[in-house]
Amino acid sequence: MFTGKREFEKFESKVWLSSPTMHGPEMEYVKEAYETNWMSTVGKNIDEVERLACEHIGCKFAVALSAGTASLHMSMKLAGIAAYGMPKVGHGALEGKKVFCSDMTFDATVNPVVYEGGEPVFIDTEYDTWNMDPAALEKAFEIYPDVKVVVVAHLYGTPAKIDELNAVIKKHGALLVEDAAESMGATYKGVQTGTFGKYNTISFNGNKIITGSSGGCFLTDDEDAANKVRKWSTQARENAAWYQHEELGYNYRMSNVVAGIVRGQFPYLKQHIAQKKAVYERYKERLKDLPVFMNPIDYETSEPNYWLSCLMINKEAMCNQVRGEQDVCYIKEQGKTCPTEILEAIASINAEGRPIWKPMHMQPIYRSNPFIVREGNGRARSNAYMEGGAADIGMDIFTRGLCLPSDNKMTVEQQERVIEVIRSCFE
Ligand SMILES: *Cc1c(COP(=O)(O)O)cnc(C)c1O
Repeated sequence: MFTGKREFEKFESKVWLSSPTMHGPEMEYVKEAYETNWMSTVGKNIDEVERLACEHIGCKFAVALSAGTASLHMSMKLAGIAAYGMPKVGHGALEGKKVFCSDMTFDATVNPVVYEGGEPVFIDTEYDTWNMDPAALEKAFEIYPDVKVVVVAHLYGTPAKIDELNAVIKKHGALLVEDAAESMGATYKGVQTGTFGKYNTISFNGNKIITGSSGGCFLTDDEDAANKVRKWSTQARENAAWYQHEELGYNYRMSNVVAGIVRGQFPYLKQHIAQKKAVYERYKERLKDLPVFMNPIDYETSEPNYWLSCLMINKEAMCNQVRGEQDVCYIKEQGKTCPTEILEAIASINAEGRPIWKPMHMQPIYRSNPFIVREGNGRARSNAYMEGGAADIGMDIFTRGLCLPSDNKMTVEQQERVIEVIRSCFE
């Protein structure tokens, strides 16, 4: 329990990490779907979402799906077929194949590899953007030269080092699948994330920068791939009078009702990004004298969408914190703190923070999957940390970092109170 020296007033209504922000037009498009009875997975809202996604992101084709995860699944299937050929029915397209994956990400990035029978190999993170480390990726190709597919996520809306990653990927003749679920609207050298991979994903999940309550889009410049996803996601029906099937199908299409919400949200993407950026910059300014730093941005190459503001505590300011699989404890020291204490402090005023996404190589489900770091053996280093040795970078960010309340409806006054509570943890 957080028992700070100072008393802080609780917010009457909760300040969220990142909650949906509706504007009005969403309801009009939903109503239009209702009144015209286009209450299925066909309709004008879906067509408009696909058009708007292409227009905003700058890709040739978009296919609206029930979730970003569905798009990642279709991407992995396409990538598997492109790299290894069409699987037999009942076999995944990545059957028995290794796939290089971001390690610091949400598990929806990597689960679809397993849906297709593949084995995720986790690549450690770099400190500059908290994304996949190009040097660790190069090392992974030295160990597993036959790997042909790489999945990269842009954590918290900050673009990864795309040029460096792409150079490694091209050199080894592999194919990039991009997970831009968290980074819609972010740019790298002026180009939108979601256009760098052969197959790409954005998400309209409830906590993303814009939302449909759920939903996602598959993005590509490959017309054949877009047509395949369109067909597979509607049960792979052939062009016949009866239900005729030559391929394995899925029920992954976006609903025209959900699409109405997404359609209404698109015009507000820029506004949401501007609000999130203001939140990030206020935290950065008001916390700059503390022994902490914000989730880093490479301003030379990137303009993030600032989806979540995060904090990392300097090593010398960390008190002792021990995390088990489900629980955590810490020993408070004067002038020192840890993510757990700050999260408890934030929760005590009715605001929502969250630990950094726990790296995939630390997840019980993926404990036996390979984990590649720049130098040395990733698994051995990870275990050594448990005995007090050096950590890998992902584990270090997880240990010392946290996500701050980043809702775009948070007022300046509310954010100031959150900041004061954070500051009190360093007393
Ligand atoms: C949210 C998210 C997804 C999944 O998107 P859904 O639309 O919720 O299925 C995938 N990858 C990352 C990194 C995400 O944050």
